Amino acid sequence: MARPRRPSYKTCQAIYARLLKGPLWLDDWRSTGIKSRSTVYKSLRFLEKKGFLSRKRDGHKIVYVIKKPLHNEKGILTIDGIKWLDYLVKRDRKKEREVKKAFKKAVEEMTKFEKERLKIYNEMYKILRKLDEYIEHPSSQELLKAFEKAGLDWKEIPIGKLMWLLEENLKVPICTECLIKRKVIVLNRIKDFETGEIICGECGLVIAECRLEYEKIKRPSPFPPPKE
Ligand SMILES: [Zn+2]
Repeated sequence: MARPRRPSYKTCQAIYARLLKGPLWLDDWRSTGIKSRSTVYKSLRFLEKKGFLSRKRDGHKIVYVIKKPLHNEKGILTIDGIKWLDYLVKRDRKKEREVKKAFKKAVEEMTKFEKERLKIYNEMYKILRKLDEYIEHPSSQELLKAFEKAGLDWKEIPIGKLMWLLEENLKVPICTECLIKRKVIVLNRIKDFETGEIICGECGLVIAECRLEYEKIKRPSPFPPPKE
């Protein structure tokens, strides 16, 4: 359904100012100071529909009066007055847009941060689910024993790094010889495709055979690489 257009602030102000002086007879529309008769009529109807004005019959005349005044008898702004202000005072749309934009940006920033956190929790959950499988695996047990033999305390290794090492070890074994003798973790492992052997890049010892077992654990790592 079509609705009457909202009058301009200046029109509303002129009408309100005129009505403060007393009831407005339609034929007396010029007393509002507005140049267009149709603007006055349309605006009066609009403001009547909004409940700010009321139409009364005075003899054979139709007059408009203020139904909801801006102030009460003590001169204090009323709730209705606040509603009137929306039509009487020009809003700073630019400022409103700026505030909205800033607020939106702040919310987006916060959500972004939360999303990052959620990602970390997801990773941790994935680790938790894999934990038993990783720790109970014979290769992991062997690696942990090697740590012990080397006199290294696995508890001193950050848990993320330890889990990453365990997973690396499941993919391709870490050289326990180097770990025990030289206390270094060798991630430099060479695969000899001719012999099907995996060789430690440091000491040259054969660590394992390229067995299917090692080949099949080729999924993307759920652990972030350790930070040095
Ligand atoms: Zn080695």
